[in-house]
Amino acid sequence: MNLSALPGWRRGFVEACLALVGAEGSDWYQGFCKRVTAEIAPQAAHVDASGSYPRDGVAVLRESGVFGAALPVAQGGLGFGPSIASLAVETVAAACPSTAAVLMFHLQVILRLVRFGSPRQQEETLPRLVRGEWMGASAWTEASSGADKSRLTTRLHQGPQGWRLDGAKTYCTGLEGAQVVHALVAVPDAAGAPVPSFIQVTTDTPGVAIEEIYPLLGMRGSSTGTIRFDDVVATPADLVGEVGGGRRMMANSHEVCVNPGLLALGIAAASYSELLASVTGANGSMVDSTGFQHTRLTLAGLEMQLGSAYAYAAQAVRYAASDITQKNLECLRSKVQASETATALTSGAMQLVGSRAFRSGHPLERHFRDARATSLMGPCTEVVKEQVAASILEQARRGV
Ligand SMILES: Cc1cc2nc3c(=O)[nH]c(=O)nc-3n(C[C@H](O)[C@H](O)[C@H](O)COP(=O)(O)OP(=O)(O)OC[C@H]3O[C@@H](n4cnc5c(N)ncnc54)[C@H](O)[C@@H]3O)c2cc1C
Repeated sequence: MNLSALPGWRRGFVEACLALVGAEGSDWYQGFCKRVTAEIAPQAAHVDASGSYPRDGVAVLRESGVFGAALPVAQGGLGFGPSIASLAVETVAAACPSTAAVLMFHLQVILRLVRFGSPRQQEETLPRLVRGEWMGASAWTEASSGADKSRLTTRLHQGPQGWRLDGAKTYCTGLEGAQVVHALVAVPDAAGAPVPSFIQVTTDTPGVAIEEIYPLLGMRGSSTGTIRFDDVVATPADLVGEVGGGRRMMANSHEVCVNPGLLALGIAAASYSELLASVTGANGSMVDSTGFQHTRLTLAGLEMQLGSAYAYAAQAVRYAASDITQKNLECLRSKVQASETATALTSGAMQLVGSRAFRSGHPLERHFRDARATSLMGPCTEVVKEQVAASILEQARRGV
């Protein structure tokens, strides 16, 4: 792949993601980009306007082999390693963020099963997810406990008829296409205390129901909504990982660097390209406004901010591929940096492009709404900044 053809602000990130994939992986990625551009990007406006699950886009992803791109060949994958997953999500996000959100959560389920799944889950569920016969979704949020995972009301409990799952999870993305949901629920530990744990549920199990798909401001085709569990037969054998392993497994999604920061990067990149084409008059939507000093300086500032977010992400990808201990925090930092950049960039771009960008149907109007979702998607910015501050202060106390 000819990396020198990429804009400087993105090149280091792509380089970091492709560093370990070899020539075959690089060729696969080039082919993947072509399909995303030709078949997924043209659907983005329709997916947004209709708020419908991106079935056609998901079919393209399935055919491309991206669901297994990061996995070893022995597990049915293409063998390109975890960083290809980060690059694929960012690439799809630049084309259609709703489709990318479905992809990202599906990949999280796959990577969680690879690392923590039971032999039965790895034999029966994983291959179907890798082939895309089944799609996966992750559900940790609840109506009254979003960022705080210590007050879960959805629970696996033992009643007179045996083990049952009851409760409701909110803001679960990819619901309409999902056959498998990993839900974070309270499970009694050896002492009977409820502890957050992941359980795997198939959506055709009696008692499982999609209660609502939300009309959202952005990511409107992400099929995000509420899933309810009423007296669902489930047992501790359906847990993913150990009782109480929920937090560890959520952290793992960040350690492998597959998080909403990648959605933010793709949205920011698409917005910047649109901005540049607009203010230079290249796309014919407005006259060249680069004669204004304010336009030139804002353009430069936004490009540098974009470059910083991509540089952060490149570092996170490199850390994720290493065994250093602070990689989780580095991936979280990158998520915040990317989502704050996407929010600022889409707002700044709208200002420079003017009222035309405020109109429904204009790409920047869609990017503006989509970007806003990325800082709300977990882990939210404030929670990450608390963790970063704790790390800074702890290092300061140790004199590091
Ligand atoms: C488009 C979209 C898709 C999503 N997809 C999924 C999904 O697939 N699965 C899923 O489980 N969830 C999903 N979510 C939900 C997301 O993970 C939650 O929004 C997130 O975990 C935060 O929870 P909350 O919004 O309920 O915020 P709350 O916990 O109610 O917090 C509200 C606000 O309070 C502040 N706050 C909270 N805690 C702290 C703290 N410790 N320190 C400082 N400030 C704090 C923050 O400003 C925060 O935004 C999605 C959200 C969106 C917008």
